[in-house]
Amino acid sequence: MTEALKKIIRDVPDFPKKGILFKDITTLLKDAASFQKTVDLMSHRYVGKHIDVVVGIEARGFIVGAALAYKLGAGVILVRKPGKLPHKTHKASYKLEYGEDALEIHQDAITPGQKVLIADDVLATGGTVSAVINLIEKMGGQIVECAFLSEIEALGGRSKIKNHPVFSLIKF
Ligand code: AMP
Repeated sequence: MTEALKKIIRDVPDFPKKGILFKDITTLLKDAASFQKTVDLMSHRYVGKHIDVVVGIEARGFIVGAALAYKLGAGVILVRKPGKLPHKTHKASYKLEYGEDALEIHQDAITPGQKVLIADDVLATGGTVSAVINLIEKMGGQIVECAFLSEIEALGGRSKIKNHPVFSLIKF
């Protein structure tokens, strides 16, 4: 059922740098039927799970996260690159292949005990989502699952997320 969706995601070699095969979901997003199918399939899994908020990771995670939240009747929370959120934030740094990056969330974004679904477009090495998990756990959020539109299995991100379930619709 997801074969057609898998095919419509565009491979862009050597972006943003040499050696990276970028999974470009814009070709899926612009196709009405594919986008609708993606959101329906992903959200179906969480119907009845009483998700309070969906956390979207900048930037493509906002699109996936907001669509899931709308379907589930949940709120949307933004996790952004440093300096983008206007109010007081918590920050988590994480390692990249070369160097370090960081993400922020508003301090009042999550109330302890809220049921949280994390959403992003691609699970690669798992560094990004691990930082987000850290932030949410510190704030007392109860993570129900980490949901990805796609997963690059060879990069082993799933094995980094030890304490929470991981779902990906499409596996590369
Ligand atoms: P990682 O922390 O390695 O799991 O990387 C995940 C984040 O980087 C996600 O927000 C993805 O959007 C982005 N990303 C990493 N690798 C790729 C890739 N090959 N194609 C598209 N997006 C990627």
